[in-house]
Amino acid sequence: MSTSEPEAVTVTLVRGDITRQSVDVIVNAANSSLLGGGGVDGAIHRHGGPEILAACRELRASRYGKGLPTGRAVATTAGRLDARWVVHTVGPVWSRAEDRSELLASCYRESLRAAAELGARTVAFPAISTGVYGWPMDDGARIAVRTVLAEAVAPIEEVRFVLFDAHAYTTFEEVLSARG
Ligand code: ADP
Repeated sequence: MSTSEPEAVTVTLVRGDITRQSVDVIVNAANSSLLGGGGVDGAIHRHGGPEILAACRELRASRYGKGLPTGRAVATTAGRLDARWVVHTVGPVWSRAEDRSELLASCYRESLRAAAELGARTVAFPAISTGVYGWPMDDGARIAVRTVLAEAVAPIEEVRFVLFDAHAYTTFEEVLSARG
């Protein structure tokens, strides 16, 4: 684990499975259907139980009839996870032809905003869009760290990036230490 405290918020890196974290908010790298998928999304629904999917179905039946747009975030129960809420956000699919960085930054910003509104102090993020959605890890890590350092405000005290493998962990560590 490595830690850096450039601002009020503490940014922490952990290698592991985000569904095993004890935090106020676990952020889900969802897809716009909100009805489950692979990667982080699959793990969250598998370990969190059916309460999360039920809450997502309610969102589809009400506020998000067409699905959650890319770059936006919405909170539900965390079901059986050791967290108070899951904040679902939809990352952009990486594109060589089009710069979608602002949408990826928006995922972190909107998730932090939702978490702060709920009163969360601790928030765990995966490396959004760096799995099935194909975002290069180094660029994804730069956007993640930069946005969190700029946007995390009280009552958020700790933002924890939970990185699934050694490559992701090392990349985030390099990006974070480069920021001093
Ligand atoms: P996306 O569709 O946004 O790319 P994925 O869930 O496919 O989302 O992957 C996002 C990142 O999360 C990838 O780096 C992947 O290796 C990682 N990941 C997959 N499962 C987990 C998990 N259980 N906990 C933390 N990170 C995970």
